[in-house]
Amino acid sequence: MKRKPTPATRAIHGGGPTHRVNQPVVPPLHLSSTFEARDIDEQVALEEAKADTFYTRYGNPTLSLAETVVADLEGAEAAAVFGSGMTAITTTLLAHLKAGDHAVFQREIYGGVHRFAREILPSYGVSVGWFDAVDAAGVESALQENTRVLYLESPTNPTLKLVDIERVARIARARGIPTLIDSTFASPFNTRPHELGIDGVLHSATKYLGGHSDLLAGALAGSRPLVSRVKSYLRVLGGILDPHAAYLLIRGMKTLELRVTRHNENALEAARFLEGHPKVRAVHYPMLESHPQHELARRQMKGGGGVLSFEVAGGLGEAKKFANALELVRVAPSLGSVESLLSIPCLTSHAMLSPEERRRAGIGDGLVRLAIGVESPEDLVSDISGALEEI
Ligand SMILES: *Cc1c(COP(=O)(O)O)cnc(C)c1O
Repeated sequence: MKRKPTPATRAIHGGGPTHRVNQPVVPPLHLSSTFEARDIDEQVALEEAKADTFYTRYGNPTLSLAETVVADLEGAEAAAVFGSGMTAITTTLLAHLKAGDHAVFQREIYGGVHRFAREILPSYGVSVGWFDAVDAAGVESALQENTRVLYLESPTNPTLKLVDIERVARIARARGIPTLIDSTFASPFNTRPHELGIDGVLHSATKYLGGHSDLLAGALAGSRPLVSRVKSYLRVLGGILDPHAAYLLIRGMKTLELRVTRHNENALEAARFLEGHPKVRAVHYPMLESHPQHELARRQMKGGGGVLSFEVAGGLGEAKKFANALELVRVAPSLGSVESLLSIPCLTSHAMLSPEERRRAGIGDGLVRLAIGVESPEDLVSDISGALEEI
């Protein structure tokens, strides 16, 4: 080809150039936990080279293919895949921190990561500081002499706040502090944080990358040295991805661009409909002109993604009535999948916060989170509209 294909095209063609040789169109699934060497010398060489044909905890050709595609989608040199998003995040943090170090976390981050930062890291001698997503300048005052990681997430759950990735990355880089971001909500189609200066981009690949609610996986993309360092921890901590799930992940990533394009369109249409509805108060979605960081959203995102949230007038009782009246949208945690899902954050993901903490985070009792899927938009709007009639 005269031009280099886009990442979306390469994701369909196995992450690399196609060859005119007789081979399966779909890559084989390597289930073997171990690999035979010709002789002992070759086996030693395979282990030393960290080959993906030695022992599956060290690597496996199916996992390597998944990694090639993830790296390509993020515009990064290398990637690693993990058994879950949480394993990707905790393994990456452990590979960056040791006793005596300091780490700065964004206040609004995934619940499991918040708990890891607040309870587990301090028990290993790592001290932790915090900053607010919307206050990029506030990062500066949270950094210390011994800060070894700055950890971000954008957009945030469930209020869809953004962090100015490029600006925060510049502040950290000037101080030589590695940056990590949980980019699950954006997906590599909507934002490519590595190109904005972030060192390590993390995903719960359970969500958009897999895309079909049928696997758990995590991913990290970044420079080759960063990924190698984290992989050396992964080989010891052992949170590797099962090859079956890696196979499904590879299949899912082939349609990432198609799916996320539709998620973006559907969620914007649902957000616009909700914004004009008399029974709805605030609607949170980055691509609405009313979003307080809409300018930033347009700069750093191609689309707003599938997740939006809104406040039902009348509070929790009415929010529950709305949830129970939906027919198409299902009551389930998670996001980024083909089917639309709903949750009420004050009862689920943010139930462990005190009412005061929730109020400060902008999570009212009537807040409903919708993870919009790829159904026909007219069916979604009709389902949402019908359920609002019930309250
Ligand atoms: C789901 C999720 C995680 C955790 O991923 P798992 O695959 O469930 O371990 C981390 N961060 C975000 C933003 C998520 O949505």
